[in-house]
Amino acid sequence: MRRYTRPGRAAFVVRFWGVRGSIACPSPSHARYGGNTSCVQLDLGGTQVILDAGTGMRGLGRRLLERGERDASLLLTHVHWDHTAGLPFFGPLYSEACAMRVFACGLQSLGGVREVLSGQMAAPNFPVPLSALRARLEFQDLVAGDAFALSPTVWVRTAGLNHPDGATGYRVEHAGRALCYVTDTEHTPGEPDERVLSLIEGADLVIYDSTYTDAELPAHVGWGHSTWQEGIRLCRRASAKRLALFHHDPDHDDTFMDQVEADARATWPAAFAAREGMQLEV
Ligand SMILES: [Zn+2]
Ligand SMILES: [Zn+2]
Repeated sequence: MRRYTRPGRAAFVVRFWGVRGSIACPSPSHARYGGNTSCVQLDLGGTQVILDAGTGMRGLGRRLLERGERDASLLLTHVHWDHTAGLPFFGPLYSEACAMRVFACGLQSLGGVREVLSGQMAAPNFPVPLSALRARLEFQDLVAGDAFALSPTVWVRTAGLNHPDGATGYRVEHAGRALCYVTDTEHTPGEPDERVLSLIEGADLVIYDSTYTDAELPAHVGWGHSTWQEGIRLCRRASAKRLALFHHDPDHDDTFMDQVEADARATWPAAFAAREGMQLEV
């Protein structure tokens, strides 16, 4: 299989900059798994793809500027705060040498993703309006189910998820590898989501909404989140190879997360809990 990559550079690297859901929780008892909200970097042989813009995005921006990376594509699952709060603190947006393409699904009826993000940054919500950013920005509105080429070597597929106000799952393919990012979504016990199964079919790594445990889910029906056990059931059914538990509940401290990961590994050895700062090749 042909691999599109610069010499000496891994073809498909994922790094977790924020793994938490709902709200950042920077307390000592959350330090090992991390307190920043959802932000994942894909380095695809030099092409930078960012999954969500939670508070972890600030650190990613510093890293990209240090390394002279000037172009990135941002794929947003949805625009709840825990997936967008890092955007105004993403350093490259303040440099006219930088460029970013922003993709989101299902916001057309609200005026599109540019309009929605502008509203979140408009006074009195935030002191710097979107229009003051120096970077070259492009916004692309999608419909759930769309598939497109992000570049000549990077393919993206989308699927609608089950979440208040809607959310979108992504499958990113590059260099013969596939990574799926499926958060925030709620499942119905005993009824695997066919849209998710189709999206993650045979994927090398699935990053999945594991906010709750199966035992906690009944008290949170309608909140729009899933469990690590459902992640394992879906991955096994779809013949996916590895599962990263993600979007950890802020109420789950490091001790709780150790137990979650131990239980998940005992159930399916290919499962692990995503940690802030974790980097791996897909
Ligand atoms: Zn969330
Ligand atoms: Zn959400």
